[in-house]
Amino acid sequence: MIRLNEIHEKILSYNPEADLDLINKAYVFSAKVHNGQVRMSGEPYLVHPMEVAGILASLKMDVPTIAAGLLHDTVEDTWATIDEVSDLFGKEVADLVEGVTKISNITFNTELAKQAENFRKMLVAMAKDIRVIIIKLADRLNNMRTLEYMPEDKREIIARETLDIYAPIAHRLGIYWLKSELEDLAFRFTKPELYYKLSKMVAKTRKEREKYVHEVEHIMRGILEKEGMKVDVSGRPKHLYGIYQKMEKYNLDFEQVYDITAFRVIVDGIKDCYQALGIIHTTWRPVPGRFKDYIAMPKNNMYQSLHTTVIGPKGEKVEIQIRTREMHIVAEEGIAAHWKYKEGKLVDTKEDVTFRWVRHLIEWQQELKDPESFMQFVKVDLFPDEVYVFTPKGDVIELPVGATPLDFAYAIHTDVGNHCASAKINGKIVPLKSSLKNGDTVEVITSPTAHPTRDWLRIVIVPKTKAKIRQWLSKEEREESQSIGKELLESEFSKFNFEFSKFAGSNEMNHYLSEAGIKTIDSLYSQVGYGKVSPFQVMKHLIPLDKLNELKPKTDSAISKLFKLVARKSSTAVKIKGMDDILVRFAHCCNPIVGDPIVGFITRGRGITIHTADCPRTLELDTERKIDAEWDVGSNILRPVKILVTGIDKPGLLANITNSISSMGINIIRASVAPNRNQKSTLMFEIAVKDTHQLRDISNNIAKIKDVTNVQRVMSGESA
Ligand code: MN
Repeated sequence: MIRLNEIHEKILSYNPEADLDLINKAYVFSAKVHNGQVRMSGEPYLVHPMEVAGILASLKMDVPTIAAGLLHDTVEDTWATIDEVSDLFGKEVADLVEGVTKISNITFNTELAKQAENFRKMLVAMAKDIRVIIIKLADRLNNMRTLEYMPEDKREIIARETLDIYAPIAHRLGIYWLKSELEDLAFRFTKPELYYKLSKMVAKTRKEREKYVHEVEHIMRGILEKEGMKVDVSGRPKHLYGIYQKMEKYNLDFEQVYDITAFRVIVDGIKDCYQALGIIHTTWRPVPGRFKDYIAMPKNNMYQSLHTTVIGPKGEKVEIQIRTREMHIVAEEGIAAHWKYKEGKLVDTKEDVTFRWVRHLIEWQQELKDPESFMQFVKVDLFPDEVYVFTPKGDVIELPVGATPLDFAYAIHTDVGNHCASAKINGKIVPLKSSLKNGDTVEVITSPTAHPTRDWLRIVIVPKTKAKIRQWLSKEEREESQSIGKELLESEFSKFNFEFSKFAGSNEMNHYLSEAGIKTIDSLYSQVGYGKVSPFQVMKHLIPLDKLNELKPKTDSAISKLFKLVARKSSTAVKIKGMDDILVRFAHCCNPIVGDPIVGFITRGRGITIHTADCPRTLELDTERKIDAEWDVGSNILRPVKILVTGIDKPGLLANITNSISSMGINIIRASVAPNRNQKSTLMFEIAVKDTHQLRDISNNIAKIKDVTNVQRVMSGESA
C-alpha cells in the first residue's frame, strides 16, 4: 500500500507550496470512517482511497482533488454525510466528493436508453468540474487493478464498461498511460484466453525485440546526430490491447503486428521536428499514405506529433513519431499537462481547447432529446474513426469510416456478403461502393446467383471483408482450375482411347503422384489446370511409352461426334475451328453473349478465352495466340450482360423497368442506382440473356417505358 509520505513527496515534486495539512486531515478522516471495513482482497478498505490519491498525485492534480480522492467513498459507503465533509473540508472538496458519489451510482448497461441517460448525468458532472471525472478515472483504475478479487460474474461487466466508457474518456482527455492500462486490464478480463496467449507471445519474443529496438535506436540516433541534431530516440513497446486491436482491425497475425515497432524521436523545437523528418525520409523509404502532420493539425485532445512509417534499417516497417518535449508531455499526460498552477492553486482556463469536447457534448445533449441519437453522437465522438449504422431490425453495426454496403453485408454474415446483389440505404437502392454515414439504415439484398468479383476488393475497406472476398475468389479459382484440369486430362486420355477415370485412384496413379510430389489427385487437377503439368506428361507416366506409340489419337466415330456436339452445347456453346471439345472461358472485359461476333485467344493452361471481336483488350493480346471462334448453332446458354438505363428520376421508374425485365422471363443478377444529377436517374442492370436478339428485345421494351430516355449495353467489365 502506498504510504502517506509517498503521496506527500509526489505532490511536492510538482507543487512545492501545496497545503499538505488538508491531505493529512482527509487521510485521518477517511481512516476513521472506513475503519473495520475490508475490501474483497482482504486488505483494509483504506488502501483503496490511498491508492486513488496516489494515482491523482501521479496525474499532478491539485490538493482539493487529492483530498477528495481520499474521501471519495466516505459518503457512499460509511456513516459520514456530505454536510460533514463540507464542514470539515470546505465546499470545493465536498462538491467533488458529491460529484464522484453521484456518478458512482451510474451504471452503463447495454440498454441504450439507460446508458444514454447515465451518460448525460456523467457529462453534467464533468461539465461542472472536470476534476470529478478524473477522480472517477483514478478510482476505476485502482478497481481494475484489483478486479481479480471481484466475483467472476461482476468482473466482465466492469471490464466491458471500462472499455466502453472509461478508456475512451481517458483517451479523449489525452491521458495515454491511463487509457492503455485500463484497456490492458479490461482486455485481461473480457478475453482472458487471448490476453494470456498474447502476453505469452510477447514475453517469448521480448529479448529479440529489445535487441532489435536497441539497434534501431542506435542507428536512428546516429543519422540524426550526424546532421548536428540533438535528439532523444526511444522504441515504444505496444500495449497488449493495442496489439490485439491492430490484429483485429487489419486481420493480421501476431508477428505482423508485433514487428511494427513505434519509435519516438524527441527534439527541441518545432523546426527540428520537420528537419528530423526530412533526414529520416531521405535515409529510409517512407511508406506512402502514412505521413500525418498532427503539428499543423492537432488532434482534438491537443495531441501533436509528426507520424510517419518507413522501411527501416532492417527492412522492416518502422513507425516513427517526432515531437518536441512539450508535445511529449501532452501526449503522455493529456489534460493534466494543461493544468496551470498559480500561487499553488490549479487554474482551469475556460478557453482551454480540451474542454471544448465536454461543452459540445453538453450542447448536444440539450438538442438531442431521444436517447438513441444522443448515444449515437456520443459514441461518434468517443470513437471518431467509426460509423454506426442500423440493420432494418434496428441493430447497431459498427464499421470504420468509409465502409460501404458490402462491408456491412460481410459484417452481418459471410454468406450475406458472398451473395450480396444490391443494397438500400434508408430505403433507396445505392451503388455498392457508396460510403455509409452515421445513422444510416442499411438493407442488403441477396441473390443465390450473386457472388464476389475482383472488383469488390476495390470497393470494400474493412481488411477483414477483403480477406473474406479473397478467400472466396481463391477457392473458386482453385475449383475452376481443378475442373479445367480434370477436363483436360479426360480429353487427352480419350484421344488415345483411354478413360482417365480408370486411372484415378489406381496404383500407378498413386505411384506417379508420390514420385511427382503431388499430394492429392485434386492438386494434380489444379496443376494441370494452371498449366504447370501437361496432360501428356501425366499420360506418359501412367502408360508405357511403346503402348502409347502404338496408339494414334483415335478418330471420332459418327456417334461420338454427335454425342460431343450435344455435350459441348450444354457447356460452352462455342466452336473453335479445327479443334474438338476445347475448353473455353469468357473474358470479363467484354462479356460476350450469344450472337456477338467473337474471337478466341489461347491462354496457357486455361484453354481458350473468348472475347467479342471488337473488344479493345484484344488489341493488347499476342496475335499469334488468336484463334477463330464462332457460336455453335442452336446453342442454348445464358450469359450475363450489363445494361445502363437513363431516365427521369420519378417514383416507380425502377419498379417499371424491373417488371418489364421479369415479364420476359429474364433473371436480374444485380441492379444498382447511380447518384442522381439534375433529376436524372441512372440504373445499371446485370441480366442473364440467351442471345443478342433477346437483348435487343428487352432493350426495346425498356426504351418504351415512360420516363426512360436511353438504354445502352455496357461492354466493359467495370462495376457500376
Ligand atoms: Mn472507490
